[in-house]
Amino acid sequence: EDQAGPRPRWIRKRLSLNSDYFETKRLVEDARLHTICESGQCPNIVECWSRKSLTIMILGNVCTRSCGFCDVQTGRPGAVDVTEPERVATTLAKLNLNYVVITSVDRDDLPDGGAEIWAQTIRRIHEASPGTGVEVLTPDFKGVASDIQTVLDAVPECFSHNLETVEELHRTVRPQARYDRSIAVLEQAARDGRSLVKTGLMLGLGESNDQVLKAMKDLVDAGVQVLNLGQYLRPSKRHLPVMRWVTPEEFEMFKTEGEAMGFKHVESGPLVRSSYMADAQAEIVASK
Ligand code: SF4
Ligand code: SF4
Repeated sequence: EDQAGPRPRWIRKRLSLNSDYFETKRLVEDARLHTICESGQCPNIVECWSRKSLTIMILGNVCTRSCGFCDVQTGRPGAVDVTEPERVATTLAKLNLNYVVITSVDRDDLPDGGAEIWAQTIRRIHEASPGTGVEVLTPDFKGVASDIQTVLDAVPECFSHNLETVEELHRTVRPQARYDRSIAVLEQAARDGRSLVKTGLMLGLGESNDQVLKAMKDLVDAGVQVLNLGQYLRPSKRHLPVMRWVTPEEFEMFKTEGEAMGFKHVESGPLVRSSYMADAQAEIVASK
């Protein structure tokens, strides 16, 4: 059981499995794609996969970092597969998606942090599926501006990088990352101006509501347009405990405050994930 006690009723989600879900599952398995939906044990998987919405992980499934909330295996990743951008693009073309979210493990072992594979993946998807919006959820590339620019120059429809938590908790939650560095990554993307810029935080790791509001202010000042806030759920007993269950009313308060501060859109709720309803968010922002 978590520090915060048993899961409240608003965390549970019941949806029945259906044929669209199984169709997506089969295509993902056939193509041997790694999805965060599965590896992150995301509670929204049935809903998202039924809507043909998913988050793919590129550059392998072994990460050079070890964030305290994340279930991806830490270690020395394998060699880069230069055919991956093509393989991903070909598979996605079969899925015929409106919108796809691509993410990766952190590849601090590579000279460019994987930026070139990132850029090629975006370009190949745009070529193979002109109707599919591409959202990238990237690492911080150790803050190297030229690597971040390599990704931005492929012009994804949405550039997303998660701040994950407030400044005060970075050392325990993301030991190899830095608050200021992640803000700077987002600032660079906002300055570039060609992609929608988005971030997300998990709540319930021990932060106060005031610390969350301070982080939100820093993000607005950096030019971030879309913010996602969701409840942290512990993947296993080896991970950081849940310190509190943020109530639906508190999530609502953050949405109201965030939109007053200047975000174009705030998705805020217990089960919100950075890729949750990403297609709908892009449309909402486009229509504003
Ligand atoms: Fe996958 Fe994101 Fe949907 Fe979760 S919210 S199932 S990670 S697309
Ligand atoms: Fe997980 Fe990303 Fe942290 Fe790696 S960098 S451990 S994939 S959250």
